[in-house]
Amino acid sequence: MSRKMKSKDIEALIYLAIIASPIYGIYLLFHNYGDMIGYSIVFLLICVSLVYILIFIFEYFYYKSEKFLAIKSSIKENILKCNELNAHIEELKQVSLAPNTVDYGIANYNDNSKYKYQRKELEKIKSNPNVYNCSLSICKGAQEQPFKYLCKYFNIKADEDTLSDVENIFNDFSAAEQGKILLKKERTDILDSIQNKLPSFLLEFRQKKLIKKLGFDDVDFNDYYFPKYTFNYVSAGGNSSMSCDVLLDLENLEKLILYLSNIIKFKKSIAGQRMLMTSSLREKIKKRDKYKCKHCSISIEQEPNLLLEIDHIVPLSKGGITSEDNLQTLCWRCNRKKGNKILSNEN
Ligand SMILES: [Zn+2]
Repeated sequence: MSRKMKSKDIEALIYLAIIASPIYGIYLLFHNYGDMIGYSIVFLLICVSLVYILIFIFEYFYYKSEKFLAIKSSIKENILKCNELNAHIEELKQVSLAPNTVDYGIANYNDNSKYKYQRKELEKIKSNPNVYNCSLSICKGAQEQPFKYLCKYFNIKADEDTLSDVENIFNDFSAAEQGKILLKKERTDILDSIQNKLPSFLLEFRQKKLIKKLGFDDVDFNDYYFPKYTFNYVSAGGNSSMSCDVLLDLENLEKLILYLSNIIKFKKSIAGQRMLMTSSLREKIKKRDKYKCKHCSISIEQEPNLLLEIDHIVPLSKGGITSEDNLQTLCWRCNRKKGNKILSNEN
């Protein structure tokens, strides 16, 4: 982390120097401040810019050189695997709670009040499926009991289908978050394996560009994909406002699963069989399956940065339930291929 910050800061400083040195030089010329200190500062800044320009030129030729292309092709397969995993993680992040699909129509808002009484803030309110514009008391209530208000005002029904949806999301997001960590590790391992062949200053200060030139796809490491629901209160005149966000990150999703299951009176599950998808259950299934893919038998011993996922053998959408019998460990590749087909363990 600190290494990344350092190189980023230095880069920013250098860009600043490239821009600032000629400007400062011109400033000195016009104001006849040509003293020794002024000139030496300009000289220093120009030197730094020159170094940077030299790095640019070096990079231009280096990334075209046969030496670099040979390194690149030696790790081609590994990079391809990384990029595939990256694409898979992006797919995992796409699942979402069934959005509120009701079309309420279009209406125009007209404020016919005399100037003094106009409520300009009300005009700005636009419909957004993840924002609920509400009274102050609802906003406060949402802060105290987020899930209760979430279900009520965002039409999330506390039933078995919703629970299955939330479990699916939790399962996929958990895999995505684990995948991100493993992908980072794998990338570091690949870089370490070719470390001696690469110019060290590129690794140290220009790693981002280097990674791109080696053929890695951009990886999105931030967590902005977690669904966020907002309760928004704005007073009619716009002078006071308050909002309350319910972020469904892994921690909250797991809590939501427990919350929903407490409300639901289960119909189809046989007593004791229906379990809840939680991080401890996910870990339990992986341990039971000895951290091996039940389909292709690849294990984390063979591939240390292998992403293992928890799969419903009979999918929830086809009537399967979350139970130990219906869960299995699959590697991400097999799970991706499976889609909605049911894999048999024998082949
Ligand atoms: Zn597999």
